[in-house]
Amino acid sequence: MPQIFSGIQPSGELHIGNYLGAVKNWVALQHKYAKSIFCIVDLHAITVQYDPDQLRVRRRDMAMSLLAAGIDPNVASLFVQSTVPEHTELTWLFNTVAPLGELERQTQFKEKAQRQESVSVGLLTYPVLQAADILIYRADLVPVGEDQVQHLELSRVIARRWNAHFGRGEDFFPEPQPMLTPARRIMGLDGQAKMSKSMGNTIGLMETTEQVWGKLRPAVTDPKRVKKTDPGTPEVCNIYHLHKAFSPAATVEHVARQCSTAGWGCIDCKKVLHENMELELTPIRRRAEELKAKPKAVDEALASGTASCTTLARETMREVRARMGID
Ligand code: SF4
Repeated sequence: MPQIFSGIQPSGELHIGNYLGAVKNWVALQHKYAKSIFCIVDLHAITVQYDPDQLRVRRRDMAMSLLAAGIDPNVASLFVQSTVPEHTELTWLFNTVAPLGELERQTQFKEKAQRQESVSVGLLTYPVLQAADILIYRADLVPVGEDQVQHLELSRVIARRWNAHFGRGEDFFPEPQPMLTPARRIMGLDGQAKMSKSMGNTIGLMETTEQVWGKLRPAVTDPKRVKKTDPGTPEVCNIYHLHKAFSPAATVEHVARQCSTAGWGCIDCKKVLHENMELELTPIRRRAEELKAKPKAVDEALASGTASCTTLARETMREVRARMGID
């Protein structure tokens, strides 16, 4: 039975971009697979400049957001990466088989390195840590967005190389396959770039109904709809794509028709979207309030995830050390 593993950066409370782009899918997947492991990757987050106090807060906020969004600690394992130190041990061992040339060719490394004066080794070996995260649980499936497919290919290269050297004729590490997240890339409210906190174009999952409307109302739509009587092209409008994520299929069809025939204005369209978003977001906000009132529930969920992942990681490391002659 396949096992899934996926990670998320400790970027604080979720926004609808990372909720629709990853977490909503995780919530569905956790009930479909024998073992689902979801990891808050704080060790990845420290490969760029950061504030240690902020990191603690963001890690905690992310854990609370994930639980509020529907990750069930009774079904899936949710934990913080640094609480299972075997990940870093396996990273070092994988460093001895990871191909330098391929690490240097990773698009994300090249992009991030260009923006920094001094490039750390951690930024270069980021995908090796990612390979260790996945392979330490011998996970076969990794729900990812398209931007992570290249890193996952590198995880397969590392698994193949390690198996060839130390597998004793068997594929000890499976070659993990990407499971592309069905929800598309969510654009920000400016309609210009991917939704991200650093761009200031997000809607937070925990924002109030008034705050959500305050952001939706001025959000960019099809620029050709200058007047209400101008017909629009729904496919070029981010609001239409948000309808596809939050509204029922019949509403999405209605939106497309009303838009292309100038049957309504953009504010009418956004009001319907807002209502449908509220249906999905209200229970998440309610769970978040409950978790804020009972912070121990978050600690317990993370501790339980750490305990079960530690058991699995230690089993793998015992075998890895034996096969590498360092037991
Ligand atoms: S009517 Fe809706 S889909 Fe069409 S441009 Fe306006 S907001 Fe976008």
